[in-house]
Amino acid sequence: MLTGVSKEVIAIDGPAGAGKSTVAKALASRLGFTYLDTGAMYRAVALLAMRQGIGDVEEVAGLARGMELRFEPSAAGQQLIVNGENISTLIRTPEIGESASALSTHSGIRRELVRRQKDMIAAGRMVLEGRDTTTVVCPDARLKVYLTASVQERARRRFMEYAGKPDAPTLQEIEASIVARDHRDSTREDSPLRVAEEAVVIDSDSMTADEVVDAILALWLS
Ligand code: C5P
Repeated sequence: MLTGVSKEVIAIDGPAGAGKSTVAKALASRLGFTYLDTGAMYRAVALLAMRQGIGDVEEVAGLARGMELRFEPSAAGQQLIVNGENISTLIRTPEIGESASALSTHSGIRRELVRRQKDMIAAGRMVLEGRDTTTVVCPDARLKVYLTASVQERARRRFMEYAGKPDAPTLQEIEASIVARDHRDSTREDSPLRVAEEAVVIDSDSMTADEVVDAILALWLS
């Protein structure tokens, strides 16, 4: 068995609102690597299930196995195409986030999405982000990062993202939803969110996204 072989991959895990997407996209662009947003895949399954009114998790796992999913580069940023439809914007709602979090506790759904993610990263030169990329999807990534921030700071950042949008949640609602999601993501039986062995923990409370990117690049190049 080969041991100690690492993949040319930066894997970033952490709780909701820690800034993983912003940082992972910037890192991918700086390094010329491909960005993989694993959470978008859970959101895609949630959207399909919601549209078809399917609540039974075994049936949802069937939907996950049957969907045709690909990420496509575009000038406006990476787009997620599922069954021929661009769903990149449709999956970015608080309801889909909640539903994805609930469905992600189901092992049948995780197994299928992790299988696809492992295929996608086979060639390396990727930046991954999610909840289990350092522990399950790519434990042999050359660099593993656990990116976090306080609940208050994460809620504040999400609040700024939603500002001005119709039906934007209040700061208190966002904070409550973050606390609930953190709890569910870190206590589920299958692949809970945790700090992986050898992961570098970055607390971004008093850092800008650029500072986090520079810190990770420095680790990657060291
Ligand atoms: O990261 P994002 O908020 O888009 O992910 C939506 C939900 O999908 C998360 O709250 C989490 O429960 C789940 N997820 C997961 N494993 C991943 C990525 C996301 O369980 N690798």
